Parts: sequence; structure tokens; C-alpha cells
Amino acid sequence: MGEAEEFMGQGQPVDAGRVAAALSGRSVVLVGMMGAGKTSVGKRLAAKLGLPFVDADAEIEAGAQLTISEIFERFGERYFREGERKVIARLLNAGPLVLATGGGAFMNATTRDNIARRGVSIWLKPSFDVLLARVRKKSNRPLLKTSDPEQTLRRLLEERTPTYALADFTIESLDSSHDAVVEAILRRLDADLDEDAKLAQEPRRKVEVPLGARAYPILIGPGVLVQAGDEIARIAPGVQCAIVTDARVAPLYLDQLAASLNQAGLRSTPIVCPPGEATKSYAEFARVCDALIEARIERRDVVIALGGGVIGDLAGFCAASLRRGVRLIQVPTTLLAQVDSSVGGKTGINSRHGKNLVGAFHQPSLVLADTLCLDTLSPRDFRAGYAEVVKYGLIGDRNFFEFLESNWRAVFAGGPARAEAIATSCAAKARVVAADETERGERALLNLGHTFGHALESLTGYDSDRLVHGEGVAIGMVSAFRFSRDLGLCSGQDAVRVEAHLQAVGLPTRMRDIPGFDASPEDLLAAMRQDKKVERGKLTFILTRGVGESFVARDVEEAGVLAFLAREMAVSA
Ligand code: NAD
Repeated sequence: MGEAEEFMGQGQPVDAGRVAAALSGRSVVLVGMMGAGKTSVGKRLAAKLGLPFVDADAEIEAGAQLTISEIFERFGERYFREGERKVIARLLNAGPLVLATGGGAFMNATTRDNIARRGVSIWLKPSFDVLLARVRKKSNRPLLKTSDPEQTLRRLLEERTPTYALADFTIESLDSSHDAVVEAILRRLDADLDEDAKLAQEPRRKVEVPLGARAYPILIGPGVLVQAGDEIARIAPGVQCAIVTDARVAPLYLDQLAASLNQAGLRSTPIVCPPGEATKSYAEFARVCDALIEARIERRDVVIALGGGVIGDLAGFCAASLRRGVRLIQVPTTLLAQVDSSVGGKTGINSRHGKNLVGAFHQPSLVLADTLCLDTLSPRDFRAGYAEVVKYGLIGDRNFFEFLESNWRAVFAGGPARAEAIATSCAAKARVVAADETERGERALLNLGHTFGHALESLTGYDSDRLVHGEGVAIGMVSAFRFSRDLGLCSGQDAVRVEAHLQAVGLPTRMRDIPGFDASPEDLLAAMRQDKKVERGKLTFILTRGVGESFVARDVEEAGVLAFLAREMAVSA
């Protein structure tokens, strides 16, 4: 049913109590232009939901003992906006409530982030004529004190429309009564929260990593994060936890995890690192180890890695090293970490000589992969992780690759197809790890595309603006297929098919796709030699006989590699 139809008040009135319960502590935040009716609608909506109502502008005026116009006149708009940001953050922290925000508040990115974390945002969008008629009735709008208020209103609306459209819902109120708008909001919330509830009922999947005494489960599904406390308390009751995370993930998920631990009777200390590959360094390793010692993490206690592969690798290596090994629990929040780095026990940091050159095998006791966390991932990071998902199909599961070719849009959209792809990937990784835990043989298959990929990462200075790990792997996998084709091992058709799929999802597939990449074939070969998979001067490559038929080739001639790179780069030029 479209929004405009919902408006006409068709159907049964919505059970506001059910909506209030389903909001489960979140606030409802009304955004939109001056005159959109946020205050009048907000008051009525709050009464229905049984929540307090606050008008952010009124709160600011009361705090400053000045009207908004006076604040603008005396201190300027910038000063007002800064105060507005703080007031809204404070109100949301104290929520839940129904909050009407001033017309410009949602333009502030920090405020939008705050609202996204603590509430549901609704853009009230009446027709322009209704807006104009309403604002004309009131003369206290500082931004409209111009020679042509109608023109100014039109310009402001145009400027702000793309940002208002970022709200969770848009309610086109046209010229409907406030009560009808409230009903439409409730109907919309009811439908959406119902979806959330359905999602929460999606079954949790469990994949075992069968490593004898060190076996552990991977739990995959929506909402696994809020169950973390109970899951961890089950295997480690009463322990002290340290949560290692990064500064991007912390504002999104740290509170949720800490609260879940707290509820299960587990105390925790957060340790927050800067985001990005540079965090896998000696300096951060030392800082985190010291912080763990200061947090009194003993051998029986637990280090929890909350974040992507960078945090998993660093925190894992710290856990492996601290007091010669403390328990590790991985709570991966990127797709790459959920399908790859959190499983299998490889941990480590980078040296100036190359990636992951210093590290240890240290298996986690538990992996908790909450598929809802992936909703906040940037599209680029999601795609990068997807390259590793495709890798499992290319290594040994042609059917899975075909599933991805047909269903990748559903995997990107979320829901059961995504959880299915993650579980299949984890099961593939678990099988390989169980067969060869410390990479003496078959486990090297997981490095398909990585010898090329790591060299590319090294030559771009680990600059994530130019290339992130999964993108390097995507280019590397296409290179491995093209190299195998040149060696007469695999068909040209398979090489084209793999590249076409990776391109379809928006991944880079050739070196020319890396911005400003101008290394020579010799540079690339030298970088490959630094990769830890070089054994006695011979290059180890994962080559392929086709989709699902990869194999480890341990003695690939350097001359052949150089000639291939020269051909590829000539094409790239
Ligand atoms: P990452 O950890 O740097 O995460 C990517 C970005 O996403 C970061 O900016 C992070 O702050 C942010 N982020 C994380 N979770 C988020 C969320 N839910 N919402 C919004 N933003 C979020 O990178 P990655 O791609 O997860 O991992 C790459 C690393 O993993 C590399 O260092 C690679 O070497 C390593 N790796 C290790 C293994 C292994 O077996 N140990 C396997 C593959 C890769």
C-alpha cells in the first residue's frame, strides 16, 4: 500500500501499544521543514505511544532563555547549530521519546548518526503550498526574514530534500489533518517493525569447526549480538572480558555488546583502536597488550574482538601473546570477517616488509556473526567481503558459485540469502581448516588470489582509499584465472565468467582499476616474493582448472609470472 493511500485512513486503526512495544526503547524523531507540523503531530503521536514529547527548539529556547530568533541575531547560525546538535544528543541519550527537530537539525551528519543509533526518523513532507501557508502565519522564522520568503522557502526545501530523504520513512502529509498524519505514521511503523520482528525470527545457523579439543561453533544470524552475553557466559561463566574494537564500530555496537555481557553477569573493559589496516602494527599491538594487562585480563578471562578483520587479527594476536594465550571470542562485524578472518585461528600484524608477517595460530572459543551488523557496512566494504564469499565457490564448490551468480542481489539485500551465503562460506572454511589447521597443505587453497592481492596492497601502501583487501583479492582471483588460462590449465570461458560476476557486483578486476597504479611488473614480482607463501625462492600460487577446481602449485617459475604480469600490465596501460 502506498503512503498516500495509507493517509486516507483506510483499514483498522493501528494498535499503538503494539507499536510502542516494538520500538523497544527507540525514540521517534520527526524531521522536515519549518511548518511541516512536527510539533502538532509529535504531541499527538507521543500521547498515542505513551512516550514523552519534546520540541528541540523549545528546549533550546528554554535553556538559553532566548528565542531562536534572538540566538540567531546575537550569536549567528553556526553557534545555534552547535547548540542544537548537543541538545538533540542529550535528549536522545535520555530517551525514548517523540522528538520534533528544527528544520535544519537533520542536515548535521553527527545528529543524523545519533538519530540512526537511538531512534527511527520520519520526514514529514506536506505540499509546498501547505508549508507556505503555515509559515506565513508565523513571523518568528529567522531563516525566512528575507525580501522574498516564498523564494527562500522554495530554495531551502530544494537544498534540504536530498538529506531529508535519508530519513527511515517519508510521510507525504499533503494537506491532511494532524490526526490522519499520526495514523499514517503508526501504520507505517507497525508494518516496518513487523518486518523487523519477522527478521528476528529468522533461524540462527550454527557451523562447527571440528578441531578436537579446540573445536568451536560459529553462530550466524540476525540479533546474535544481543545474545552474546548468554552465549559467552555459557562457556566462560563469571569471567572478566576486554572488548577490543575500532572507533567506527564502537559507536555502532559497543554499547549493545557491553549491555548484553552485563546482563549475563560479565564485566567488560573496552579498548578502542583507530580504524584501518595501519592498526595491525607493532605500536597498536603493544598498546592493546598493555591495556589488557591494565584491565587485569588473566589466562581464564576473555578477549573479545568486535570489528572487521583488522580488529580480529590484532586482538587475536594480542590474545595469543598475552600471558602465553588467553581465550579469544570473535564477534565479526564485516562480511569479510564473518566469512573468513574470524574463523580458522590465523592472527597477526603487518611488518614494513609485508602483510601478516608477524603472527600466531590462535583459535577462538566461539564466533558470533550477527548478520544485521552488515547493514551499517559501507557498500564498498560489503563488496570487498563478497570477494571472499565468491572465493569459496571458485576454490571447490561450483554449485555455490552458480548460486551466487543467480542470487547475489538477495545476498546484498540481506535476509535469508545473506545468512545462507555466510553459513556456506564458513562451512567451507571450517572444512579446510579442520583438514589442515596450520597450513601445511590444503589450507593454502584459501589464498586463491592472495599472492597477487597482497602484492597489490603492498604496492598501494595499504592505502584503503585506493585498494582494500577484498578488492585486491578480487583482482588477484581474476589474475589467477587468467594466468591459469595462459598456462593452458583452465578455459578462457571460465576466466571470463569469473570476471563478469565480480564486475557485476561492482568489484575491481584488473590492475588498471586501481587509481594511480603505476608499478612495474618487476615491482610486482618483488612484492610477491615478500609474501610469506614464498618457499625456497619458488613462488606458491593457487591455480585453477576451472570454477570450483583450484589447486596449490608450489613451484611456479618466476620467469613465467613476470611474462604474465608484463602482458597484463601492457593491456592495463
Ligand atoms: P576492516 O577491519 O578494516 O573493516 C573495514 C572497515 O569497516 C573499517 O573501517 C571498519 O571500521 C568498518 N566496519 C567494521 N564493521 C562495520 C560495521 N558493521 N558497520 C560499519 N562499519 C564497519 O577490514 P576487513 O575487510 O573486515 O578485514 C581486512 C583484514 O582482514 C585485512 O587486514 C586482512 O589481512 C585480514 N584477513 C585476515 C584473515 C585471517 O584468516 N586472519 C583472512 C582474511 C583477511
